[in-house]
Amino acid sequence: MTLPDFNTAADEICRAGMLLDARNMAPATSGNYSMRLNDGAFAMTVSGHHKGRLVPANIMRVDARARPLEDKKPSAEALLHAQIYRLFPATNAILHVHSVPGAVLTRLLKEDVVLEGYEMLKIFPGIATHDVRVVIPVVGNSQDMEELSAELSKKIKGDVPAYLIRDHGFYVWGDTMESCVNMCEALEYLFACEVETLKIKAGARA
Ligand SMILES: [Zn+2]
Repeated sequence: MTLPDFNTAADEICRAGMLLDARNMAPATSGNYSMRLNDGAFAMTVSGHHKGRLVPANIMRVDARARPLEDKKPSAEALLHAQIYRLFPATNAILHVHSVPGAVLTRLLKEDVVLEGYEMLKIFPGIATHDVRVVIPVVGNSQDMEELSAELSKKIKGDVPAYLIRDHGFYVWGDTMESCVNMCEALEYLFACEVETLKIKAGARA
């Protein structure tokens, strides 16, 4: 596939921010988004901007180790983007969002999230049936990105391109920004279904 130049990627990232904000996945200045560029660098959201109101000046170029290539500051979590691009070389776009059902689910469950039997799972690469069991890894939150990436490298496998950070949100990666937005919406739906199911089961036991 053809990789974008910076201006094209910046437009796609701004559009993704609007779409995700419309679905309540970009509260305050949360989240960070990135894309692989056609010159070997990466486009990444600048720290501190509301993702629903991004303009191209809020996007910056970083290298493969998430170091700035211009005088702007990437998110601290840019290192986690660099790790995903390194571990899964077919990745061309990454979204990190602060999802309400994603965060709530990690507060209700001690273990990884298991998604089983949902039609929506067919949105993920390589899954052609609802009759499947998918595990989304959950790692503990940390402000130490080295510690977080070390824990992630033990847990993430990439059979489904996503992981959750406890009390925080999730990451999803894919070959295009459009596929990432779709997978984001699918995960948000699936996590919301799981939360609703747990609520009803808890009510039935009460
Ligand atoms: Zn975050």
